[in-house]
Amino acid sequence: MFKDKKIFVLGLGKSGKSVAKLLAKDNHVLITDVKCDNLDEVKELEKLGINVIITKDQISIFDDSYDCVVKNPGVKIDHPVVLMAKKFNIPVITELEVAYRYLPEVKIVGITGSNGKTTTTTIAYEFLKKAGLPVHLAGNIGLPLCDQIDDIKKGDVLVVEISSHQLVNLDKFKVDVAVLTNLFQVHLDFFGTYEKYKLNKLRIFNNQDENSLAILNKGDEEVCELTKGLKAKKIYFSSKGEADIYIDNGSIIYNHEKVVELSDIRVKGIHNYENIMAAILVAKEFNISNQVIREVLNNFAGVEHRIEFVTKLNGREFYNDSKATNVDSTITALKSFDNEVVLILGGLDRGHSFDSLLPYLKHVKHIVCYGETKDRIKKFADENHIDVTVTNNLEEATHAAYNISLEGDTILLSPACASWDQYKSFEERGDEFKKIVSSLV
Ligand code: ADP
Repeated sequence: MFKDKKIFVLGLGKSGKSVAKLLAKDNHVLITDVKCDNLDEVKELEKLGINVIITKDQISIFDDSYDCVVKNPGVKIDHPVVLMAKKFNIPVITELEVAYRYLPEVKIVGITGSNGKTTTTTIAYEFLKKAGLPVHLAGNIGLPLCDQIDDIKKGDVLVVEISSHQLVNLDKFKVDVAVLTNLFQVHLDFFGTYEKYKLNKLRIFNNQDENSLAILNKGDEEVCELTKGLKAKKIYFSSKGEADIYIDNGSIIYNHEKVVELSDIRVKGIHNYENIMAAILVAKEFNISNQVIREVLNNFAGVEHRIEFVTKLNGREFYNDSKATNVDSTITALKSFDNEVVLILGGLDRGHSFDSLLPYLKHVKHIVCYGETKDRIKKFADENHIDVTVTNNLEEATHAAYNISLEGDTILLSPACASWDQYKSFEERGDEFKKIVSSLV
């Protein structure tokens, strides 16, 4: 707990506001950002006694009188205030760490990894909720833990998605059950090198002991190599061979028992089976039955905008994978289908190449493209003798895809581009797609 401290909150994001509000109850809080588009938010914070300062020159308002800096996870690790705080020996922590100091005795499940965090976190949470446990969902999933402190009681379980940015300044935060889904070369601009990025991921296990659990991907050599020296008990999932939980003959097997048949799982793709197996290992730590697991998986249609099943219309299935803002994510989606696909591609033009999609397009009967990248996608399709239709926007693209499709086909929005040429976010683009699909009826 923090009491009568002077705290400098760096960054007005969702987590910054949440932490400032919690700390303002018993402390002197200053929050700063380089910009703020929402004056109502500023007024709300000021009403709570929080000093809000919008300035590009944040170092000029910082000095050694502060007891602590709370850094928004997205703020660079070499931000001048962070470097100055280190010089003054002032601790720099993040919202999750502050929340931890306010928690009663609870059990924490922490989930990290390059990909699959949100999906694994959501499924694990659904298992625990369905089993009737007092469980809370929090973290990078868009639900700051600081917002939930008042609702959390002794003995509750927290399922927390933890990004690499959030891991950077964790200190005492102890994860009882840690999941590391996989490792890919991402966020190199933030961490500098892949080596540094990987070492940072290890922080999720930092405060674990012999009674803690680490759930790891046996099919990912880098995960296995990185986690060799852990204190915690290690258990493994794998989609590639035998492990504590694995896939055999079309079913997920745990403890010599068939937990669920893959055909009874609604979400698609090996990558999702990996996420599911990691989440089942979490569930098993809480003695959740196969029956409960099956019920959840029968109904779970995927996390919104991630290969999310939208509807079936006249024999065509529609999937919204608007989160696929780069070519690698679209490849993951394409690997998840083996029937004929009409693929909608397009969006912001970052000058990126579409060539690496090629080996995964065998069952794509037609590409429909739109947005800033439409001409480059057409060129790519023409060069590779793939049928293509060019449209101006998502509405036209969805109508065209529907008209081209036949019964039994999948219509997949997995754009391989960011949304910002026509939308504010990938969420807005996915919502719009679902709206257009529902108007097709
Ligand atoms: P994160 O929260 O780590 O960004 P999500 O669960 O939101 O991950 O999934 C985002 C995208 O990452 C998915 O649409 C899919 O393309 C890819 N993905 C998800 N899970 C995995 C996995 N286990 N392995 C590889 N790629 C994955």
